[in-house]
Parts: sequence; C-alpha cells; structure tokens
Amino acid sequence: MTPELLPCPFCGAAAELQDVEWLFGRRRALCACVECGAQGRELDYRPGPDDGLRDEAWYAVACAWNTRA
Ligand SMILES: [Zn+2]
Repeated sequence: MTPELLPCPFCGAAAELQDVEWLFGRRRALCACVECGAQGRELDYRPGPDDGLRDEAWYAVACAWNTRA
C-alpha cells in the first residue's frame, strides 16, 4: 500500500510517484511535483521476481515526501 501523496509544499500542486529506468538493471523511485518539479527523496532499487521491492521503494519515497517540512 502506497500512502496518498500530499500536495507540493512549495506550490501546492499534485505530486506523483515516478519510477524510472536507472543503471545496470536498477530502477529509481522518486516523488516529484508535477508543477514545479520539486523532488523528494530518491531511492534506487533492483526489481525482484515480484513487486515487493518496488512497493517498498514507493512506500519509502512517498513517506519521505509526506513528512518533509
Ligand atoms: Zn510544486
């Protein structure tokens, strides 16, 4: 379960989770504002046979986004 994302602390626009291709088979999960491009914590992870690691990474970046000042 990924927590619902709070609006951007800078401009109040919606934030979204992004999951981009990274190096060497790794992926990078991050949370960013769709309007001003502010970014929260980034987290690299290596996709496993199931979606567990991805869900964990998403959860972590979503929590980090929601808890920053
Ligand atoms: Zn913003």
